Amino acid sequence: MKPFDYTAPGTIADALRAGAAPNTRFIVGGTNLVDLMKLEVETPAHVVDLNPLAEADRTLATISEMPGGGLRIGALAPMSDVAWDPRVKERYPMLSQSLLLAASGQLRNMASMGGNILQRTRCPYFRDTAMPCNKREPGTGCSALRGFNRSHAILGTSEHCIATNPSDLAVALAALDATVRVRTGGTTAGGAERTIAMTDFHVLPGTHPERETVLRAGEIITAIEVPALPFARRSLYLKVRDRASYAFALASAAVALDVANGRIRASRVALGGVGTKPWRSLAAERALVGRAPTAATFRSAANAALQGAVAHKDNAFKVELAKRTLVRALTEVVA
Ligand code: SF4
Repeated sequence: MKPFDYTAPGTIADALRAGAAPNTRFIVGGTNLVDLMKLEVETPAHVVDLNPLAEADRTLATISEMPGGGLRIGALAPMSDVAWDPRVKERYPMLSQSLLLAASGQLRNMASMGGNILQRTRCPYFRDTAMPCNKREPGTGCSALRGFNRSHAILGTSEHCIATNPSDLAVALAALDATVRVRTGGTTAGGAERTIAMTDFHVLPGTHPERETVLRAGEIITAIEVPALPFARRSLYLKVRDRASYAFALASAAVALDVANGRIRASRVALGGVGTKPWRSLAAERALVGRAPTAATFRSAANAALQGAVAHKDNAFKVELAKRTLVRALTEVVA
């Protein structure tokens, strides 16, 4: 690990000031950042610990009600706290499930909600500094294109990067139309605030895979807001992986259905494990609405969701796997 300096400011204004220095990383749980620092994939000169901010402002680490029935989740809240919160479990089962199916109990106790949506890809070439990787070192090439790419993406890829976004949580948040609240350095004490739709938060790799989100250097995520969605009480996050726990998704689906009088009135569909970003599928949602919740309807939604998928040498199986995962999630959610 390369040497770095460490600060732990007590106010958001001080944290924003510290974060303005070049080559700075914020840390909360450190479950991804420290890992990458040990591998020297991440080599920050400055590490700014955000944990003390929660002592001055508890809303940064807790869940509170929003007007209209949504929930505001502090970005420093541990994944475990959110996963087991009765309001989350009752109103947004897919959200709780996406958290509980991720990582391990110990990691969920440490990892923060904000950190989870910023976690870096698990592409093995990204984590190996001996291998070319456009995401780690722009312009060096993509080792996965001709290498072993079984775990890689089939949606949203480019000729510069085919890495999968690893977050389960972000898939559920994309399906739920969540928004990310961000504090940015400014003239006012504590900075200015901006709000980003979860579906816009991550970006496609295109020609710049090193850029993964619209977050600017020095900005701090303060909260994730999940709007009220009554039919999300009937929702599900289904994750398919190589082993039953502590593994990343080969394919996953976050689904919610509003069914009345034998017809689907509204739907939410997002896929994980197959996209370069959490993959909300409006095409699948359109294929569901107005139809009866039958196996044929679900299969046509799955076909719509995977339209345009591009497979590589080792991951062609993901096209059918993702379709079956989505069909099974939709079938289970209406059962
Ligand atoms: Fe790097 Fe992306 Fe290629 Fe993996 S898929 S080696 S992260 S450029």
